[in-house]
Amino acid sequence: MKRRSVTIALIAVFAAVLTIFSSCGKTPSETPEPSGQGGYDIEITSETKTSSDTLASTSKYSSEDKLIALTFDDGPYALTTGKILDILEENNSVATFFVVGYNIDGNAETLKRAINMGCEIGNHSNSHKNLTKCSYDVLREQVDIPNEKLAKLTGSSPKLFRVPGGAYKEVETDIGMPIIQWSIDTEDWKFKDATNSDRTAEEREADIKAISDRVIAEAKSGDIILMHDIYNFTADLTDAIVKGLVEQGFKLVTVTELFDAFGVELENGIVYRRAEKPAPASTLAGGSYIVKSTYDTVNIRTEPSLDSAIVTEIPNGTSVTVEKSVSKWAFVTCDSGSGWVSASFLVKQ
Ligand code: ZN
Repeated sequence: MKRRSVTIALIAVFAAVLTIFSSCGKTPSETPEPSGQGGYDIEITSETKTSSDTLASTSKYSSEDKLIALTFDDGPYALTTGKILDILEENNSVATFFVVGYNIDGNAETLKRAINMGCEIGNHSNSHKNLTKCSYDVLREQVDIPNEKLAKLTGSSPKLFRVPGGAYKEVETDIGMPIIQWSIDTEDWKFKDATNSDRTAEEREADIKAISDRVIAEAKSGDIILMHDIYNFTADLTDAIVKGLVEQGFKLVTVTELFDAFGVELENGIVYRRAEKPAPASTLAGGSYIVKSTYDTVNIRTEPSLDSAIVTEIPNGTSVTVEKSVSKWAFVTCDSGSGWVSASFLVKQ
């Protein structure tokens, strides 16, 4: 009986994942509109409703506190998001959920619970499209539909956007909301519980320990951690990470609470990786930087333009020296050569 329920749970998670990723290549007109648009039976407690005019609660922290924001993408999904909410609740913690528009329908109760717990809800597009490959009209739908759905559901629109696949190049301004990336990637999706996985329970435990140990060792106040609330593996990983961070004295807060505490005002069209103001690309100071990208490698080019030739590719994490910069581009040198790189990939060392 127990084994059967686990199997059913795994199939359900797999179906949820398929729902998200099977829609990636479709235009909105090809994908049927979800049913149940005619109003949700949602009751947000009056305490939550009056505490904020947005989906975020007001910060009660300062930058003196050790603060971290856990973020979960691609849900909500009742089973796994529910488990994650249980863990947060047990540890007096909150998180930010970047939800996909198509998953809002049918998971309203889970969202209601998250909001009432003080969690923040952000927008992660309507059907998980790569926004750098969409027309402007499709991009608008991808941003606006979840905002409208969430506003209808809760009475307020999300303040934060997370781009599908971390891809925002050249569309930051079009999105028109603060874009929240991350400073610590758990890479939980690589370890998700695939139905055909032949991993033993011991190997799974070892993966959870290795990831949570790395995250806890790397964690600094102001960091934003990336996870996905559609896998059972992530729920178990969350348990280890939350307990470890709380033990180290961290307080787990929402993204808005984190930026409020650090006094960083979130601006539309600006990309944030942690609670600090990103250096404007046009005035990137010379000195040592680290390449930080959602891609494995970034291109070094002959000119400050995407049309110019590639000199070399350098891996994420490479140390470089910035010699000079022009708008959005920096001229860098590193062990494997010199050339121009998009300044958005550089983080001050
Ligand atoms: Zn995603």
